[in-house]
Amino acid sequence: MDFKLKIMNIYIHTFGCKLNKYESERLSHELKSLGFNITTLNESDAVAINTCTVTKDSDTKLKLYLEKLEKDKPIFLIGCYVSKKDSENNDLIKSKNIFPITNDEKENASKIIYENLIKTKIDNTKKSNLFFPQDQSRAFIKIQDGCSVFCSYCIVSHVRGKNKNINPNELYKAIEDASKNNYKEIVLTGLNLGSYNFESTTFSSLIENAMETSAKFGVRLRLSSIEPIYFDEKLIKLFNNKNNKVLAPHVHIPLQSGSDKILKLMNRRYDSTFFHNIVENIYKENEDISITTDVMVGFPNESESDFLDTYNVCEKSRFLKMHIFKYSKREGTKAYSMDNQIGIRQKTKRAISLNTLNSSLEEIKYKSFLGKNLDIIIESVCGENIYEGTSGEYLKVRLHSEEQLNKKMLTEVVAEKYDKRIILAKQIKK
Ligand code: SF4
Repeated sequence: MDFKLKIMNIYIHTFGCKLNKYESERLSHELKSLGFNITTLNESDAVAINTCTVTKDSDTKLKLYLEKLEKDKPIFLIGCYVSKKDSENNDLIKSKNIFPITNDEKENASKIIYENLIKTKIDNTKKSNLFFPQDQSRAFIKIQDGCSVFCSYCIVSHVRGKNKNINPNELYKAIEDASKNNYKEIVLTGLNLGSYNFESTTFSSLIENAMETSAKFGVRLRLSSIEPIYFDEKLIKLFNNKNNKVLAPHVHIPLQSGSDKILKLMNRRYDSTFFHNIVENIYKENEDISITTDVMVGFPNESESDFLDTYNVCEKSRFLKMHIFKYSKREGTKAYSMDNQIGIRQKTKRAISLNTLNSSLEEIKYKSFLGKNLDIIIESVCGENIYEGTSGEYLKVRLHSEEQLNKKMLTEVVAEKYDKRIILAKQIKK
């Protein structure tokens, strides 16, 4: 089919993780600068889908989604799903009006889309900026891609390829640019963020330097997920410093399981004591820091007592939030052929039990902030003199203020009333 049309309306749909979300923001930004309109699905002439293949469910969701799309629209399937080499996805690619763009080509996705739709070559020598907005106040910066850990349940490290890291100077420049564009928070992101390493710059020294740059430009720095194996003393110290106003006092550390037997089967390369020590060392100087996590239930061979170990580690870790997943078999991974797969009923029971724990831990954490000062970035106005935002600790905060607040400002407030997941707060009068 010939798309030599003036196709300039495109819809971008994103499946999967935060990194995909970031990459879609970047794609949108680049397509806009090439003259495209980013529209709703109905108004679009073409569709770009950033795919995910982390679970079997993700594949099913994608297939169902594709079935609903108009058959004569060009569809660009980008990323993890089309980077797998199985016949199933090849059939899908053949049977639809689809242009696959694999992870290796992802950096050039906007160029490939443009050239396919407009049928004109473009010069891509000028690289785009590194930062891309998540919302009006917050921008992402991707500093790393790829993963060489190969957890036994994970297909992502197979489809994303080896580690790629940006030059630290690019990050410092991007922080400066983001601040000039009025962003008040930078979220550093990557597929396996903590594995960052560029020449002699380790992850913790990069963060230390990035904090200096952020302080200079008045931006808050937030780190997305960091695997336990990448915590060194230096990184823990950066979180320990109570006077630091730059690094958000929030860290996401995926636990996955609290059972040493299961962690070994998962090839996670740490045990529950190692995880517990990181958590306690982070809380040691600052109990107000928030820790969030990912937990997987029903991994092959997970007995009731293994699950109880997980439950206990979660309870002891006093998480603000747990993302709870039920294990699902993924072809191409080591865990796929493991014996003793766990039935769906057992998995669901365990997930429900952790969800209940999650709600009570969340409530305890939120209530612990009553009467304390919080630094909040305002994200939206939701009524007269009522604003919503996120604190450095990652609490969702509703703020009552008689003053007209600049939507993007960092504001210091005192938390005053707990209401479900929202801490109501009032602004401190100086
Ligand atoms: S650390 Fe493990 S779960 Fe995370 S991307 Fe790498 S292999 Fe997958």
